[in-house]
Amino acid sequence: MKNLAARLIPLFAFVLCLSACASDRSVIAQAADAHRELEPAVIEEAELAAYLQEVGARVVAAADAMTKAGYGGKSQRAADSRWLFSEDLRFHLVASDELNAFTTGGEHMYVYSQLLVACRSEDELAAVVAHEYAHVYGRHVHKGMNRQYAVLGGALAAAVLSHELAEEDKEEWAAIGGTLALYAGQFLSLGFTRDDEAEADKLGFDFHARAGWDPARFGDFFQNLADQGYDTADDTFSDHPTLRSRVLAAKARAAKLPADATAWRRPPVADAQRFAALKQKAAAVAAKQPAGDALAVAQTLLASVPSCVAAQDSPGNAKARARLQAASAR
Ligand SMILES: [Zn+2]
Repeated sequence: MKNLAARLIPLFAFVLCLSACASDRSVIAQAADAHRELEPAVIEEAELAAYLQEVGARVVAAADAMTKAGYGGKSQRAADSRWLFSEDLRFHLVASDELNAFTTGGEHMYVYSQLLVACRSEDELAAVVAHEYAHVYGRHVHKGMNRQYAVLGGALAAAVLSHELAEEDKEEWAAIGGTLALYAGQFLSLGFTRDDEAEADKLGFDFHARAGWDPARFGDFFQNLADQGYDTADDTFSDHPTLRSRVLAAKARAAKLPADATAWRRPPVADAQRFAALKQKAAAVAAKQPAGDALAVAQTLLASVPSCVAAQDSPGNAKARARLQAASAR
């Protein structure tokens, strides 16, 4: 019981915080909270962790230089927005079979091991990293936090699902259900709007190009997914732009770059050979992440987040969201 009370107090504080406003401070605090639950899935292997952080830091450094030169809006250039460019920003590689990347909007961004393995080049990986950072830069989670009440209300309708899922693998569910419930509202609301996604692609493209990767390759990861059959969603109803429209937008942006943009180009952090080795290592290390309830919670939360890259959710995503909705209705 004491344990339950200890868990409910931060939840209560979180809801109070929501009703006030989604300030930088509250988003950063929420992201730090969520990170504690996701940490068991974070790959600590030194070379992989340092590599992803270096790719991310290069994106952030480019955004910082651009913003100092007048890019972005007042809210990015303000003195109290320096955290957007801080060395405290962390880019985590997480062990997950889902093909995704996401951010909780504060200082933490996540790239799933399955996504790294699917990238054919660092240009593709950097495009995804730049897109995630762009959600932070654009403060998209701040806007999303204001949509959370609707989600929490809708979760009550999931009571039936709760029963069905409780029947399925009962023991595991009992062990992790409580922790999932604590984070349900927070994670279920993490989907970005179509406008957010479009803006993250635009900002991400600009950061990617200025950070020295090949702008002609920015759309490659979306093309890669489309080639793998991920583009079956109906453009009209999806929260996401289709993959093909994202590829076309990236190509149009690349064609509009100034002639001197070639001067921005730099070698990748890892050349093709090292990149291939890093992908192999990521797959091997992800498979060996220490098993247990903590990892199960972290991976369920990670799997529940709507796709930031594909135009529709995967079966694993739908299952994890149902679990989370059921947990929030308990
Ligand atoms: Zn996104």
